[in-house]
Amino acid sequence: MQTPVVIIGGGASGLMLASLLPKNSAIVIESNPRAGEKIRISGGGKCNITNAVMDAEHYLGSDTFVSDVLWQFDQKMLLSWLKQRGLVPVLRKGSQYFCPKSATELLDVLLREARRQKMLLGEKVLEVRKRDAHFYVKTNRRTITANSVVVASGGLSFPKLGASGIGYGIAGHFGHTVMKTAPALVGFTVQKEQFFFKELSGISTDVVVTVGQKQCEGALLFAHKGISGPAVLDASLYWEKGQIEIDFLPGFAWEQVGKSNKRITSLLPLPKRVAKAFLVQFAIEDKAGAALSEEELQQLQTLNRYRCAPAGTFGYSKAEVTKGGVVTDEIDVATMQSRKTEGLYFTGEVMDVTGQLGGYNFQWAFSSAYVCAQKLKKQGREG
Ligand SMILES: Cc1cc2nc3c(=O)[nH]c(=O)nc-3n(C[C@H](O)[C@H](O)[C@H](O)COP(=O)(O)OP(=O)(O)OC[C@H]3O[C@@H](n4cnc5c(N)ncnc54)[C@H](O)[C@@H]3O)c2cc1C
Repeated sequence: MQTPVVIIGGGASGLMLASLLPKNSAIVIESNPRAGEKIRISGGGKCNITNAVMDAEHYLGSDTFVSDVLWQFDQKMLLSWLKQRGLVPVLRKGSQYFCPKSATELLDVLLREARRQKMLLGEKVLEVRKRDAHFYVKTNRRTITANSVVVASGGLSFPKLGASGIGYGIAGHFGHTVMKTAPALVGFTVQKEQFFFKELSGISTDVVVTVGQKQCEGALLFAHKGISGPAVLDASLYWEKGQIEIDFLPGFAWEQVGKSNKRITSLLPLPKRVAKAFLVQFAIEDKAGAALSEEELQQLQTLNRYRCAPAGTFGYSKAEVTKGGVVTDEIDVATMQSRKTEGLYFTGEVMDVTGQLGGYNFQWAFSSAYVCAQKLKKQGREG
């Protein structure tokens, strides 16, 4: 079977690329029986498509590379592309754009548009080789010959939805450097000093988590395995090893505490069970604020800078994304083409670019697909 372009992966970036290319110019190979499975379950079933505040600061990766790609197809262009196809995302939580009703609304648009290409579903790519000017894409069913190959196979997160390391394998085969990968946008497991967190499972509270120079604001959710919630997920993007600092009482005015006759569990703006659990840890009675000794007050104030070292993360099975991946120095920012092998392209999460929570990862998948599509269209026209 011979085709001009083979797209490996029918996820967010592969489907967008298939939608943008001329009819019958590509084949999408997707190992799942259905394409776009991650989109279906994303954003709590509503898919956080993109964000009104779009810049490289929200990404881990090369600032200039990320900016240059986003600039070519930013959130406004994405929103207008979707609107032209009948989908008008709604703003939630300040700046995040979601599907109005369900993630399938976005998936339906992409599947409808991508239908212009042939799609091989339930077919797994095993390896890619190049001889002379042609690529040979070997799957579990056949070998396809192509002029260009786009690696849109994502990262290692959520293996039950088809994630595989094939993209890194292909990159390595063609001489690309692959940055060490790790689960990201994922919860932390805790060490024994924080095992008491597990008893608070299901409770959430607003915090600021500091990892190195990065501060991540939002909810922290106590979970059975450790801690999760948006602030923790964002923190996992920047954490490698060692301590994090959690401010459990951001902006709290302590002056009132020493003068108050109210009990500490009523004074602290924390869920009661959380406040009680910390009191037990500090061996402080739940008494009136005015009855606290100076030493006890100081101990409570450490809740503004609670330090702990996560034991690890919940792993790839729970991580929304994979950080690390194919280094972007070796990819042409204007086309997404490999600087090492002509005709080989990378789009989406397989690259060493990872966004924060908030729609940044889908925007990255779509922007990089758009850039790649412009090059492939031009190439097609030039024959
Ligand atoms: C639970 C969850 C919720 C998320 N929510 C959001 C959100 O709301 N907003 C946001 O911006 N991001 C979200 N993300 C992240 C987002 O889904 C990804 O960053 C994005 O899908 C990456 O797009 P991609 O095309 O690079 O990879 P993917 O969408 O992962 O697509 C890669 C495709 O390649 C296929 N594949 C892999 N190996 C092979 C092979 N050997 N042969 C053939 N096919 C193969 C896979 O089955 C997959 O379909 C979420 C992720 C998860 C797991």
